[in-house]
Amino acid sequence: MATGSNLQILLKSRPEGAPGLENFEQKVVPVPAPREGEVLMRILYLSLDPYMRGRMSAEKSYAQPAALGEPMVGRTVAEIIESRHPKYQVGDIVLGGSGWQQYAVADGAGVRRLEAQAAPPSTALGVLGMPGMTAYAGLLEIGRPAAGETLVVAAAAGAVGSVVGQIGKIKGCRVVGVAGGADKCRYVTAELGFDACIDHRARDLAERLGQACPAGVDIYFENVGGAVQQAVWPLLNDFARVPVCGLIAQYNAAAPVAGPDLVTVLRKRLTLRGFIVTDFAAKHADFQRDMGEWVRSGKVKYREDVVEGLENAPAAFLGLLQGRNFGKMLVRVGR
Ligand code: NDP
Repeated sequence: MATGSNLQILLKSRPEGAPGLENFEQKVVPVPAPREGEVLMRILYLSLDPYMRGRMSAEKSYAQPAALGEPMVGRTVAEIIESRHPKYQVGDIVLGGSGWQQYAVADGAGVRRLEAQAAPPSTALGVLGMPGMTAYAGLLEIGRPAAGETLVVAAAAGAVGSVVGQIGKIKGCRVVGVAGGADKCRYVTAELGFDACIDHRARDLAERLGQACPAGVDIYFENVGGAVQQAVWPLLNDFARVPVCGLIAQYNAAAPVAGPDLVTVLRKRLTLRGFIVTDFAAKHADFQRDMGEWVRSGKVKYREDVVEGLENAPAAFLGLLQGRNFGKMLVRVGR
């Protein structure tokens, strides 16, 4: 039986506007004991994702808010260290949703065993997990890329954007990324093979984007909103598709933010469609087959930004909302 202490990071209060460290609280509790039919897991990786900002607020959304005084919600990769469940053995590596803590028990619901030999387990939280699936379904189902079309991808160096652009290249598009800073832009073109990448912090963003998209924009994969969206909007061609995946530049806004020009939506007959990755659950097997093959063959590359220690999760999460992450943001909770 495991003994010892379990560090948890709780949601202490709900932020108004930008969150801060004061919204989180550390708590140390005993490691829980599994009952019959349960397993005890030691968390190896915690995924930090932009959607967590939404869960910190109480506003009505597509998911329940995180509860105050409870460990923050989050997807995790964990090792089973005690099993009283017939399906799981000690040493199994599983994907689950144990939240921001070092140990957790589960009865098997919401837990899936990973073939640890097939790919590094952390990829189940990134390129081979929810962010990869978001890119795959959002681009292929809503963006419907065709060879020769121009695809613009916001937050291009990130977990979702990096995969969107690489699938765009596989489908024969001209792919233009938008990312924050020279290092990320260099990575996006030199490592990931995008045709161009524009720094959204540049003062002449709109002009540079126009130059990078001489034939206009057929697909804009929206991850950001705000100034990036405003720069892309006039470049949209007739019948352009805009998968609205995320609006991270607006998540901390305390007041309504100016939205897209709907007269343009009408005149250009644009397809603008918001989506939540779970809408495409029926495509998950296709995703696993295609993305598994693309990652194995090197056609799709990925980058992780791993922070050591659960106690550093709040600061790392706040950094993610400001673009300080470079790649899929993960916390190594245990080895
Ligand atoms: P990323 O790894 O891309 O990290 C977030 C990035 O957003 C930052 O690194 C930063 O990159 C960029 N960013 C933050 N603030 C701004 C800003 N003000 N202006 C421009 N860029 C900004 O995260 P993910 O790939 O996990 O998520 C990307 C988007 O996809 C988010 O909006 C997220 O909410 C959404 N999403 C939606 C899902 C769905 O089901 N619809 C599922 C998963 C994600 P940079 O330094 O380049 O600015």
